[in-house]
Amino acid sequence: MSEKSEVVHSSGDEVHLTVEQMREYVEELLPLWIQRLGCPHWSISVTYGPCSNPDWSAQCSRQVAYDVAEITLDPAHHDSKEEIERSLIHELLHVKLAVFDLYRNVVTQNRLPGTAADREESALWEFTIEQAVKDLRRMVSGMGGLF
Ligand SMILES: [Zn+2]
Repeated sequence: MSEKSEVVHSSGDEVHLTVEQMREYVEELLPLWIQRLGCPHWSISVTYGPCSNPDWSAQCSRQVAYDVAEITLDPAHHDSKEEIERSLIHELLHVKLAVFDLYRNVVTQNRLPGTAADREESALWEFTIEQAVKDLRRMVSGMGGLF
């Protein structure tokens, strides 16, 4: 992961938050949201740099058996503290759903990569998990008075 101390620019002249600014804000927000979302037993780290898909602003990898997760935030995709908070909450909600990773890993372990069945399952998995994260986000927003 690349870590730059200078202001990060994307295409055009748009100026984004520096990695230091992002890190400072994440260090302030992460413990709060870990507590609020009920995952203090997880060890969650955050790195800064591009995601595996350049269109993504953030991603999260999880080792559910160890309660360990790593969130990646791409500085080039975040222009405000609100966007950082939105990404952090989104990725933490993926952590909340991590137990389903265990199920999927077992169900798909003998699947042949690149087959139609593989592509269909991957697309359905992605859709289902993202919808669940969005629904949880709506639930959290609906508790606005608490947060
Ligand atoms: Zn997601």
